[in-house]
Amino acid sequence: MHRWSLAPSVAACLSACAAQALERHEFAERHMGTEFRLVLYAASREQAASAAAAAFARIGELDRELSDYDPESELSRLGRRSDAGAPTTAVPLGADLWRVLEQAQAVAVASGGAFDATVGPYVRLWRRAARQGELPDEERLREAGAAVGFRKLELDGERRSARLLAPGMRLDLGGIAKGFALDEALLALNERGIARALVVGGGELRAGGAPPDARGWRVSLSGLESSELRLELADAALATSGDLARHVELDGIRYSHIVDPRTGRALEERRLASVLAPDAMLADALATALSVLDADEGLELAARHPGVEARILVRRGERTEAFCSPRFPTALSCRVVPIPSGSP
Ligand code: AMP
Ligand code: MG
Repeated sequence: MHRWSLAPSVAACLSACAAQALERHEFAERHMGTEFRLVLYAASREQAASAAAAAFARIGELDRELSDYDPESELSRLGRRSDAGAPTTAVPLGADLWRVLEQAQAVAVASGGAFDATVGPYVRLWRRAARQGELPDEERLREAGAAVGFRKLELDGERRSARLLAPGMRLDLGGIAKGFALDEALLALNERGIARALVVGGGELRAGGAPPDARGWRVSLSGLESSELRLELADAALATSGDLARHVELDGIRYSHIVDPRTGRALEERRLASVLAPDAMLADALATALSVLDADEGLELAARHPGVEARILVRRGERTEAFCSPRFPTALSCRVVPIPSGSP
């Protein structure tokens, strides 16, 4: 049989020319109540479009499984099991729900319950309060509290099943599921031969391989006011949580969509937590936890996770204080920033 070999210069040209032939494509679709955006480099329009369709299909599938808004999602059905009496029998979980609940419980334990996927009953009361324009009833908050607490959700790693230990429990993966969807969307792109991609959705992003001829994807990180920090990211995730995107005003006080599961209170402090992590599911969950915890506790939590860096901005009176983990990019953003006059 004839054997071919390429001269080194031809081989080099082949790989370099292939890299040059990559073109940038962008796609957007709405899922999980927010817009997901894919930016990717592909050899052809067809390859880009079919990979993007697979990534969006995966996000859609996760939305159907993990949504707390859809009463028929696997997550909602699991919560309702506790209505017929608690503790429930062991409920077998699908592979996706298992992975997200397992990570959620790990962050709940690590954060002492500042992040808690059983926060559903509280979140529902605060959502209703926002719709009706009045604070939740104290009695109802107390009742809801009986069905909140990550220790009331028991996972069995061998059987991949869950038991709910209190009646009336409601699970809410709003603080972690988008991150998982970003990770899975990137994986779907990778499986279709797309290595250089950025996936963005709901205040967070997951970067894959860098664009050709760049060290990373240029992304900007918002501050509590307009201040922005430019970062270059590759093979990393960034999540931001806090009252910047979503809050409601009741009796003249701003309440966040994030609740402290330990007290049942929606957060009132103006703050923003940003987390860099190897994957978006972890970044997402930690960013929510860091919105709840005191800044120093939050930085301790971040330090216990390899590859995680965090910045917490807290607005106190006339100034914004920044708390950063030791290797958070650019020291410039990690100092006390005076608030420009006229800002909200
Ligand atoms: P994120 O924007 O990632 O911080 O997630 C906020 C969403 O997570 C809220 O809209 C709720 O659905 C849910 N949530 C609120 N408070 C918590 C909490 N302390 N722990 C876990 N999930 C929460
Ligand atoms: Mg989150």
